[in-house]
Amino acid sequence: MSRAAQTLFASDLHLDSEAPWAIDAFLAFLEGPARDADSLYLLGDIFEAWVGDDDDDAANARACDGLAKLTRAGTPVFAMHGNRDFLLGESFENLTGVKLLPDPVFVELHGVPTLLSHGDVLCTQDLPYQELRSIVRQPSWQRRFLSLPLSARRALASAARAGSKAHTERQIPVLMDVNPDAVTEALRATGARRLIHGHTHRPAVHQFEVDGVKSERVVLAPWYESASCVAIDAAGVREIPLPR
Ligand code: MN
Repeated sequence: MSRAAQTLFASDLHLDSEAPWAIDAFLAFLEGPARDADSLYLLGDIFEAWVGDDDDDAANARACDGLAKLTRAGTPVFAMHGNRDFLLGESFENLTGVKLLPDPVFVELHGVPTLLSHGDVLCTQDLPYQELRSIVRQPSWQRRFLSLPLSARRALASAARAGSKAHTERQIPVLMDVNPDAVTEALRATGARRLIHGHTHRPAVHQFEVDGVKSERVVLAPWYESASCVAIDAAGVREIPLPR
């Protein structure tokens, strides 16, 4: 099979046991289009919840198994922490062969200087969220959380999800999108001309200029609405719908 020189992106799969079809679609994607990609980037929130690499959740294990098969078959897979699965760690990397990336990360991709992010760090106008993020990303907080029994971590994670849902319903929608000034600053600081992120669940390709330079922001679609991925090659960006 010829290996097309295209790079695939997906994010916000929010996989969990409540939507087995989404995991099936993910596994089919990993065994199908992802095999032919030059690499696959998963930009955060692969899992609806990840309470530690020692979690034995069966649904998550199915997805990890599919990832391991793909990396063993030779497709490099990179992943970024989302706000749901920011505790993905070294054991996850060792188990799956997936390499975790910092957020944001700069890559030269098909000739275009590109910045990758989950996207939540760019939502700078959502102050309560940013405050929470800065706490749970501290190594000391994470060490304490991971030292709790699995059952306690699961209970805390579902309480956090309920809190997040309530916050999302209360917060003004524009404040939960990325801040255009933060986007401009990130592109200017890194010299990137393309930004790819997820998190906001507002799929689009936005074209604009930064200091007179044509730039674009690619927002990935949430998997639970319609499984899809974005393919990037020398010709540009296109969305690939996947069968569900
Ligand atoms: Mn997110």
